[in-house]
Formats: sequence, structure tokens, C-alpha cells
Amino acid sequence: PAATHYCGRFAPSPSGALHRGSLATAVGSFADARAHGGAWRVRIDDLDQARTVPGAAADILRTLDAFGLHWDGEIRYQHQHLEHYHAALAQLRRDGHCYPCGCSRTNIAATARAGECGAIYPGTCRAGLPPGTIARSERLRTPDQMIIVTDRLHGFIQQNLFHDCGDFILRRADGFIAYQFAVVIDDALDGINQVVRGADLLHATPRQCYLQHLLGLARPQYAHLPLVIDAHGRKLSKSDAAAPVLINQPIKTLRHIWHWLGQAPLPIELTTVREFWQAAIPLWSFTTIPLTAKPLPNYSCST
Ligand code: GLU
Repeated sequence: PAATHYCGRFAPSPSGALHRGSLATAVGSFADARAHGGAWRVRIDDLDQARTVPGAAADILRTLDAFGLHWDGEIRYQHQHLEHYHAALAQLRRDGHCYPCGCSRTNIAATARAGECGAIYPGTCRAGLPPGTIARSERLRTPDQMIIVTDRLHGFIQQNLFHDCGDFILRRADGFIAYQFAVVIDDALDGINQVVRGADLLHATPRQCYLQHLLGLARPQYAHLPLVIDAHGRKLSKSDAAAPVLINQPIKTLRHIWHWLGQAPLPIELTTVREFWQAAIPLWSFTTIPLTAKPLPNYSCST
């Protein structure tokens, strides 16, 4: 039935070209969608204009195409959703779930405890802006209650949002909607019911699920793929200028990622990306995906 049809997505931020970590996430999310006969969409997470690099979105789309990661429907962009974010923020405000905050990052850093979600906001403005301060951002009032999410790979993840995370930002001091909030609206608007993404977002999932609950939105199923780390055990990210993937040897690159994702060996003779995916999709197995971060050699940058 249409209501339960698998609908997945890949949501890169256009802050640079795809590196091998983001390509591995795209491969895992695409393979899982196609193995379920599902749809796979691409959304460009271009909310943070300060981090958007001109030309990066087009470059990412060309790379996906070169690896045979063909998406369904139109590309979505976060900038198309701005009025929806503001309507949802107005709803949360009206229902008393958020409050204005006058703290700057530096004041918070001086007093906050560190948690798995970053600095835990000490609640300075929760009961009202202290005299003489002006509102900079808006925060969500978190409940002293355990939020439990089942991840398809990691099983139960639980967080007490108040203790483990603290009241988090919905609208930033620069006026932009925070990623945690935007993504919930984006996935709901795009009809996404399966989220397969990198494990760097595992600890953000309970916050996102709580927002879905407050807004009356359906909760997708989640699966967090291992992160690609470099040979020194550090996370690859665009800001570290991790090398962009090269598209000159797509089959070789796909085979490495396939193996890295714990998948069964593929036939020796595969000459096109189309043949690669025809052979690979029926073999996709979720149960053999490793749970912990592993290096993925930078094979595609050598010639
Ligand atoms: N745009 C986010 C990123 O590139 C991913 C968002 C998501 O998958 O929920 O890290």
C-alpha cells in the first residue's frame, strides 16, 4: 500500500564535493532503498548559507550520477521549506515549547557541562530572559523524560533530553533555523519514512524524534551507518578538506565501499555501474554492516 511504501533519501550539505565518507553513506542508503523496492530521493541541505559553496550542489549531483546513484523525482532543497519551518516554530511557540535565549556561545561555554550532544545548556534563560539581556536565539524546552528510539542497526538508543542534551536551539542567533529542527520538517514534507545516514547523527535522533512528537509528525525508521575515519582514526569531514571522490574508476570505488559496508563479494566481471547495481542490489544485507567506524582507504585518488 502507498502509505507504507519505502521512501528513503540522501541529504548532503553543499559545503563541498562528496568525500568517501559521504559517498559510502549514499551507497548504503541507495542500496537499502532499492533492495526494498523503495524510492530514493536527494535533498540538498542548503539551509546554512554561510557554509554553502557555489557549485558544490551541482558537483555532488554529478558525482551521484557517475556512480549510478539515480534518484527518484525532483531534487529537493531546504530553501524551499523556509515558510514551513517558521510555521512549525510558531506552533511550538504557541504551545509553550520554546523560549527566547539571550546567551552567547561564550557565556554558555563558561558554565555548561559537556554531554554526548555537545555542551548541555545550563538553562539560564529558561524561566525568562535575565534583566538586561536581549533575545538572540530560541530554544526548545526539553522534557525530563527518557526518549527511546530503535535504530535498525544499533538497536535501542535512549536519551533523557533534559539531562543528556539540555534545551537546544531551534532558531539560531543569525536567524537561521537549526539543522535538528529543519531536518524533521524536511523529512516529513518529502514523505521520507526511512532514514539511512551516518552515525555522526545517531545522538541527534532522540531530539529529532521528540520534535516529531510535538509537531504530530510520523517518525521514520532510522539506521545509522558506520563512519569513515582516516588512518589516524579521525572522522572525515568536508571541513577537514577530505579529498573529494574521483569519478574516474567508479566500479573500483563502488567495490571498495561495498566491501567496507560488510557486503558479499560481487562477480569479477562488471564493466558498467549499471551492471554493478544489478549484481549488488539483490545481495544487499543489513545484518553484515559493521557498527563501528573503520578507515576506508583513499583508493579513488590514486591512479
Ligand atoms: N545534511 C546533513 C549532513 O550532510 C545530513 C542530514 C541527515 O541525513 O539527516 O551531515
